[in-house]
Amino acid sequence: MASLPMPTDAPAPAVALTWRHDGFFERLSAAYGSRPPLQPVPGAQWVARSEPLARTLGLGDWLDSPEALPVLAGNQVAAGAGPGLATVYSGHQFGVWAGQLGDGRALLLGEIDTPSGPMELQLKGAGSTPYSRRADGRAVLRSSIREFLCSEAMHALGVPTTRALAVVGSPLPVRRETVETAAIVTRVAPSFLRFGHFEHFAHTAADTAALQALADATLARYFPALQGAAQPYLALLQEVTLRTARLLAQWQALGFCHGVMNTDNMSLLGLTLDYGPFGFLDAFDPGHICNHSDHQGRYAWARQPSVAFWNLHALAQGLMPLIGDSDAALAALEPYKAAFADAMLDAWRAKLGLRRLPQASPDGMADQALIDEILRLMAAGRVDFSIFFRRLGRFSTAPGAAQDVVRDLFIDREAFDAWAGRYRARLLAEHSVDAERQQRMDRVNPKFVLRNHLAETAIQQAQAGDFSEVQRLHQLLQQPFEEHPRLADLPDPEPYAGFPPAWAQHLEISCSS
Ligand code: AMP
Ligand code: MG
Repeated sequence: MASLPMPTDAPAPAVALTWRHDGFFERLSAAYGSRPPLQPVPGAQWVARSEPLARTLGLGDWLDSPEALPVLAGNQVAAGAGPGLATVYSGHQFGVWAGQLGDGRALLLGEIDTPSGPMELQLKGAGSTPYSRRADGRAVLRSSIREFLCSEAMHALGVPTTRALAVVGSPLPVRRETVETAAIVTRVAPSFLRFGHFEHFAHTAADTAALQALADATLARYFPALQGAAQPYLALLQEVTLRTARLLAQWQALGFCHGVMNTDNMSLLGLTLDYGPFGFLDAFDPGHICNHSDHQGRYAWARQPSVAFWNLHALAQGLMPLIGDSDAALAALEPYKAAFADAMLDAWRAKLGLRRLPQASPDGMADQALIDEILRLMAAGRVDFSIFFRRLGRFSTAPGAAQDVVRDLFIDREAFDAWAGRYRARLLAEHSVDAERQQRMDRVNPKFVLRNHLAETAIQQAQAGDFSEVQRLHQLLQQPFEEHPRLADLPDPEPYAGFPPAWAQHLEISCSS
């Protein structure tokens, strides 16, 4: 009697992810990282999951399968996946060369096939790696919730960003200023490549062959159109320059402060990366510093665009062994200024509901003056950034209309009135229609942003074991532009769109995470 072939491997789970074995780092040598062992956590439980992301990536069923929690806790290797990878990078921190850094608490699980193309899944806080230096490789629940909420909120705002699929919590104690508990965030992106990866092989490892292999793989995989350029590495630098310029204009227009724009936190794909002590502006202050540890204000809101340009110079330095010609490298960086200025002017215009006038001065000076003046008045009156722009959508061009909902935000009402007169004239000049303009403005001026106090409330409840506010906030921030967001268990979203409470002024968001 013929015997049945016996299975030699464990049966594949009913719902398995499709892991690719020709991933970006799999094709590169061992010089790019290490594969630390799993460091399981006790008592893993779901804190939050991003259903919209799971749906987009076709991961919904897997997320509900028994494999998901232990895999995303870092307790178990997923069926079909290999051991995780911690990559090595270096970087400039606060303007100073910091030498070797690396994924000190991030573990790349691998790449999976999704309807949006191959995606890397990375755990943050999964334990120590050879790059942890003296730190513990963990992340606390507080910072993990902030990263989860903000990644998904930024995506919904239309900003390029790494995504967050889930947060898993554990009672494992983690020592920061006080003893907190651990959490692991699952991040998703086509790539987590940083400027610092290139700086590492140029300076720390001083390994031009490894640098070139990395740059070639990057071009082949993420920038295939540039492979045919006369000088592909220069083309790469210029493309990253342009993406970064456009990203920064989006950050500025939303009042987003990253907080730690070190070169190791700059994405090569132009994504928002590494959410730490970030913040959205409340009362407008161009010099606002969201990172309590940034004593010099290097990463203050108004400085972000020039810091990004500085960081691009560091990337250029990292590519110099391949580019050779420093004048050519500087020329590839030069478009940053115009690209940022153009994107920024477009963004401010959109926020004011202005369309480009055919007869407008080509350099946009008249509109720039209008923008500069309102920002000056907002700063003088410490006007709430998000609320001002949202309310400005209700501005009426009718003769003699009272603009109280906007006007009341300012201390110097006469100065506002003078500005409003010019703004109205500008709108009339392009035959702006109030209702239509309001619709357009409401699509770029969010009603709901992740203000620190909203995150803080969700965090405090989560630390007490109730994760419902994290999920509620997550859902709300998926509809940031909706006047009346649809939420099953949130009857009144209005308080989420209001001014920050007085206690929010005293929130200090430190680097500790
Ligand atoms: P960050 O300022 O959060 O971007 O982190 C800078 C560097 O420190 C990165 O290489 C991180 O991987 C590493 N790092 C931060 N926190 C920890 C931690 N708790 N354990 C290990 N490495 C960490
Ligand atoms: Mg970082």
